[in-house]
Amino acid sequence: MKANEIAVRVRNVSHQFGEEGESLHVRALLDTSLDVVRGELVCLIGPSGCGKSTLLNVIGGLLTPTTGAVQVGDKEVRGPLPQQIAYMFQENALFPWSTVIENVKLGMLFQGVPRAQREPRARKSLEAVGLAAFANHYPGQLSGGMRQRAALARALSLETGIILMDEPFGALDPTTRLHMQELLVELWKEAQATVFFVTHSIEEAVYLGDHVYVFSSSPGTIVRQMTVPPPTLPPKEMLREPDFVDRVSEIRDLMDKMTASTRAGD
Ligand code: ADP
Ligand code: MG
Repeated sequence: MKANEIAVRVRNVSHQFGEEGESLHVRALLDTSLDVVRGELVCLIGPSGCGKSTLLNVIGGLLTPTTGAVQVGDKEVRGPLPQQIAYMFQENALFPWSTVIENVKLGMLFQGVPRAQREPRARKSLEAVGLAAFANHYPGQLSGGMRQRAALARALSLETGIILMDEPFGALDPTTRLHMQELLVELWKEAQATVFFVTHSIEEAVYLGDHVYVFSSSPGTIVRQMTVPPPTLPPKEMLREPDFVDRVSEIRDLMDKMTASTRAGD
């Protein structure tokens, strides 16, 4: 791995749904640029509807941006890149009729991993997320946190260099969420993956991110980039660290100001 090699370049990406004048016309994302160094975790935060999911979909090649481009390595993204990019969503999208391990193996089947490698890789990733004993359970037999562990195992088992995570812990209770954050930091370092992580939680963004990008309200664009040192303590304890508290307050003030000015403009 080259030091500071850029894994993903987002260049002046704007996206609109529909055409101007149509009733469904929405400006979803405005002139957004960012570079992400290989192996870094970046958090994207901003008001609901500001285009965070749209940006992930553009990076993942599921949407072609109206203007601008995304490069993964030295290639422009022109469609899905399942060998290079894995997704994880808030709704874990596990098949309810398949067991946990079958779900993990299905991800690899779709990605074209040879059959003989699927079982050992699935076992290894379930072990990593602490679900080895639940491999043969069905998603409906697991708690919300365990289902997200399974979804994380599925994403990790794909061994892609890039993982796109769209509010993956948004539906979890606060305690489970903190455990998942700690687990993610541990596994992401081990996987040396480049991660885009969308969240609504400022604390989560500051805990997880090497960089936090704050988006304006719709149509979203980056209004602040904050570089954060790696966490030195588990999330619950970081919440009490003065530097951590300052960073969270700075982002909260900025977001409150944006909400206030949006309301004033209504
Ligand atoms: P976020 O993830 O930040 O909440 P999204 O990227 O989902 O925001 O959406 C940005 C804007 O684009 C919103 O106004 C949303 O309603 C709109 N939008 C998202 N997907 C579509 C779509 N497929 N068709 C039309 N409008 C969409
Ligand atoms: Mg979204």
